[in-house]
Amino acid sequence: MDKITPEQRSKTMSRIRAKNTKPEMIVRRYLYANGFRFRVNVRTLPGTPDIVLKKYHTAIFINGCFWHGHVCQQGRMPKSNVEFWLNKITRNKERDEEVRDKLRTIGWRTMVVWECQLKPSVRQQTLEGIVYLLNEAFLDLHRRKCQPLQPFYVEPGEDSYMVAEDAPRYGKEDDR
Ligand SMILES: [Zn+2]
Repeated sequence: MDKITPEQRSKTMSRIRAKNTKPEMIVRRYLYANGFRFRVNVRTLPGTPDIVLKKYHTAIFINGCFWHGHVCQQGRMPKSNVEFWLNKITRNKERDEEVRDKLRTIGWRTMVVWECQLKPSVRQQTLEGIVYLLNEAFLDLHRRKCQPLQPFYVEPGEDSYMVAEDAPRYGKEDDR
């Protein structure tokens, strides 16, 4: 189907590889293998989230511990130029918070996965945790959708009209 030369492909692949950092790929591969479908590096949403699952209204950020100021071993400040790094990382953290607020305002859930949470010893637990939260998000969205906004109301005389309508088909079509 695709008629690109090996050179073209390797060029494309190297471009992709440069962009797709390893922690991101771990999460993406796991989600994909578990049937989740998503978009990556979505520029149309605040903060260009790394992974966006539209069906779950969830944006995932995979954050490097150092750059985003995680309190953990990997997030520790270097011993020199402390003030410089402190300023830079504080600014990053503020921006992260702003982005999450913006997303929440427009009805998106946000999830932050720290790089240290993807270390081999804790990776499986983290990945399962992500799936758990996604399922929770889905249930929550579905619950809200199913709740009637107002009580059902039939206009007087309308019920005789209803009889003439086609019988509803149940369980035939996936309406989502
Ligand atoms: Zn960390």
